[in-house]
Amino acid sequence: MSVNIGVLGMQGDVAENIAATRAALGRAGIKGTVRQVKTPSEISKLDALILPGGESTMMGQMSLVNGAIKTIKDKIQKGMPVFGICAGLILLSKNAKDRIVGKMDQPLLELLDVRVERNAFGRQRDSFEAEITAQPIGIPKSRGVFIRAPSIEGIGKDVQTVSKFNEKVVAVKQGNILGVAFHPELTGDVSWHRYFVSMIKPQNNQKQQNQKPKQNNQKPKQQNSKPKPQNNKK
Ligand code: GLN
Repeated sequence: MSVNIGVLGMQGDVAENIAATRAALGRAGIKGTVRQVKTPSEISKLDALILPGGESTMMGQMSLVNGAIKTIKDKIQKGMPVFGICAGLILLSKNAKDRIVGKMDQPLLELLDVRVERNAFGRQRDSFEAEITAQPIGIPKSRGVFIRAPSIEGIGKDVQTVSKFNEKVVAVKQGNILGVAFHPELTGDVSWHRYFVSMIKPQNNQKQQNQKPKQNNQKPKQQNSKPKPQNNKK
């Protein structure tokens, strides 16, 4: 099995995420490629996608303009694992408002059932690095860098809280969606990317499972498509 992982490359810390994901694949012993993606056609071929940190308004706008946002949404709804980091988490959310500016008209994927408060930990100069624990996904200790990071509020019933920092939810999981408020890729600690690449397996299993029912369904299909065998005989 070889997996095709993309990092959305509109803007933000793309190279750091490519490096962390490659390292994670190596650790997990999974074969795969990791590259920057921008276009709907590149995104449509992916097995998994990382939405990196950066500026969510800019990333959302650029993805809207080139049509990528539609393909991304479609793929995630079909089960493709996605890892949203900081601005990427904001893009995934159903609802976002800025701590100071309030509600802004920015394109969102609206798939992750949370409300995020942008810049909840302060501005650029308030950036800090902290120890993060995520027991629910088997990460007892990791590091995360908070840069104009959002906090996660108003969590929907299908969303699992994966990590909290200073009483604020900073990492969540909802099925194939993993979202973190901080930057794990800036610390040299690849445990979050390692966990993310392990999420790709279910999707591949899903593909196989999807193929099986097709085989099982062959009988009814043959009944419904009698002309086909005739065509084959020609
Ligand atoms: N504050 C940024 C935003 O709202 C996110 C910052 C980041 O990704 N480090 O998009």
